[in-house]
Amino acid sequence: MQRGRRKPDWLKSRPPSGSRFTEIKSTLRDRDLHTVCEEANCPNMGECWSGEDGPGTATFMLMGDRCSRGCNFCDVETGGMEPLDPDEPANVADAVAEIGLDYVVLTSVDRDDLADGGSAHFAETIREIKRRDPEILVETLIPDFGGDPEAIDRIVDAGPDVIAHNVETVERLQWPVRDRRANYEQSLAVLDRVDRESDIHTKTSLMLGVGEYDHEVYRTLGDLREVGVDVVTFGQYLRPSRSHLDVFEYVHPDVFETWRAVAEGEFDFLYCASGPMVRSSYKAGELFVEALLREGRAPEDARRQARAAGGD
Ligand code: SF4
Repeated sequence: MQRGRRKPDWLKSRPPSGSRFTEIKSTLRDRDLHTVCEEANCPNMGECWSGEDGPGTATFMLMGDRCSRGCNFCDVETGGMEPLDPDEPANVADAVAEIGLDYVVLTSVDRDDLADGGSAHFAETIREIKRRDPEILVETLIPDFGGDPEAIDRIVDAGPDVIAHNVETVERLQWPVRDRRANYEQSLAVLDRVDRESDIHTKTSLMLGVGEYDHEVYRTLGDLREVGVDVVTFGQYLRPSRSHLDVFEYVHPDVFETWRAVAEGEFDFLYCASGPMVRSSYKAGELFVEALLREGRAPEDARRQARAAGGD
């Protein structure tokens, strides 16, 4: 594996642009909504928001932009959380309808300061979106809610199409990569509960380049399949600032491709998005629909789109 600390060329990205991008941005500002895309200054924003070959994707961040935790890889501010905005569920649903997204990703900061971890608010947002358009595909990237099964069930009962929860890295590196309140077993238990309680697709993401060994990544893939995870993504860890975890390594794109082949080939994941610039909801819509098509379970709209695009 290549061990270099200077940012390699394959991590260079062009800034997002275009009318669709500007349109979405103004809708978000008008409604005072947050997206992870912007908070994390995601390099894929332009591509995801435009949805060149299928449903555009954007990731809304619920429950404010301040987290009750402080993971060493994450750029979100810690502490000083505001009370929940009771209008946020309807506001997000209105914005989604206005932007015309067919695939929306909802995520949130962790709110350990709230009795239910914010799970009721999260669930209400899913319902508001589905109430306006039952055809829309909703992916949720949820916190671990401290492992509280009732909180997880609230999300399941709201009926999203995909429930994601990130293990972020291999077991040995949970600390110092993640906040001490997060851990490997707890995250696997969250994914396991969703799989046992529903037939909703589950998904998780790992960052590479924080010091993991190949055999650890391989073992993690096995653990994820054991708890029924359908979709996994791999992306390069990028250091948000000097006060965050150092990058151990810039992993070569060929290595990402190897992990994609292993995940889909050997472990039979429904699909694996893997690449230096891949983030958990990268082109989530397109890839998910593609995968459902392969399974012959895609919603009619997606099938029609695929036919129009010459697929299926
Ligand atoms: S839980 Fe960790 S990764 Fe998630 S928003 Fe908070 S600090 Fe970031």
